[in-house]
Amino acid sequence: MECCEKIRPKTGGGLYVHIPFCIRKCAYCDFYSITDLSRMGTFVSAFIREAELLSPRVKFSCDTLYLGGGTPSVLTIAALEKIMESLYRCFDFTNDAEISLEANPGTITAEKLSAFRSMGINRINIGVQSFQHQHLRFLGRIHSAGEAVEALGESGKFFDNTGLDLIYGLPGQSEKAWKEDLEKSLTFAPAHLSCYLLTYEKGTALTEKLHRGHFLPLADEKAARLLEFTVEFLDSRGYAQYEISNFARSPDLRSRHNCKYWSSAPYAGLGPAAHSFFPPQRQWNVSSLEKYIRSLRQNMLPLAGKEILNREQQMTEAIYLGLRKREGIGIPDFEKKFSLSFENIFGKTAKDLVQRGLLEKDAARCALSFKGLRFLDSITSLLADCCPESAEI
Ligand code: SF4
Repeated sequence: MECCEKIRPKTGGGLYVHIPFCIRKCAYCDFYSITDLSRMGTFVSAFIREAELLSPRVKFSCDTLYLGGGTPSVLTIAALEKIMESLYRCFDFTNDAEISLEANPGTITAEKLSAFRSMGINRINIGVQSFQHQHLRFLGRIHSAGEAVEALGESGKFFDNTGLDLIYGLPGQSEKAWKEDLEKSLTFAPAHLSCYLLTYEKGTALTEKLHRGHFLPLADEKAARLLEFTVEFLDSRGYAQYEISNFARSPDLRSRHNCKYWSSAPYAGLGPAAHSFFPPQRQWNVSSLEKYIRSLRQNMLPLAGKEILNREQQMTEAIYLGLRKREGIGIPDFEKKFSLSFENIFGKTAKDLVQRGLLEKDAARCALSFKGLRFLDSITSLLADCCPESAEI
């Protein structure tokens, strides 16, 4: 066993692991994954090498680990054990680290769930997407609604902290149909709910069908109304929105890992296509299992690229990510980070947006109002346009 450098200051960062396998490609998905599971053993050996090579560059202790992908729950117990062992060996974890795993119905069993627990995984996120047969078919999911129900019931026996992912905004979806999915989800009393608006990403089978005129997408106005309905409905059932797509039963049940992305905290990513952020540098791995394995066989990190964000880019990102959170942009922290007066730079535009009821602002925070939620992108652009050029700062 090789020894990894372990002397690091105790500041919390995140670790993300991209597991590049899925049983079948969903019609809407543009995440990197392959369906040839026979490559699992080779991937695991390369992954262990990556953990060893990346470890000395990670200068923080990890208080979150997120196993995503792809479908981490397709891994065999033995493969996941090897991955977890290498992570625990190569990185420092805080005692109370949040360790999450994404799982899909149709790929989990009681035996696997029990093994996840004994590996230290303390949070599970189930990709349900819908409880309606025709929606699951449209999305190209491998599982039935019955299997989703089974997976949730089973995972509830092993995990208190269970999250559930849903997709809304499907063609022709009514508020009533969406409400049924939300109602059904709540019968499992999940700790956390993620509700993602269906988007049509370049190169996916669904986008191809859309371009060929196989169906009409839901109108923007209807999709926006579904988002507003979701926020109001879940709030009335005790699930507060804390990010545009995310809801938790209480603040301590928010995804601590994903909160790192929205607050520009450092994180290291492992696995093909994984991104790392060592502020102000972002780097990303190759989106190809073959290249990933080849690079690691030569003892080289499988990097595809990197960029150092300049101050203007960091500011734009802080605005975009800050506005995604319901608590908004923390003004004192923003001012300290960028050594400027928020009021001087954004005051005029923000005041206009407040007057139009789209933004809420006081000395501590600047956040979207309920009415502003549907305009996240355009409000971000308006504020980002106020950012001074790097040279002016
Ligand atoms: S299971 Fe998840 S990662 Fe895999 S293809 Fe479907 S949406 Fe993409």
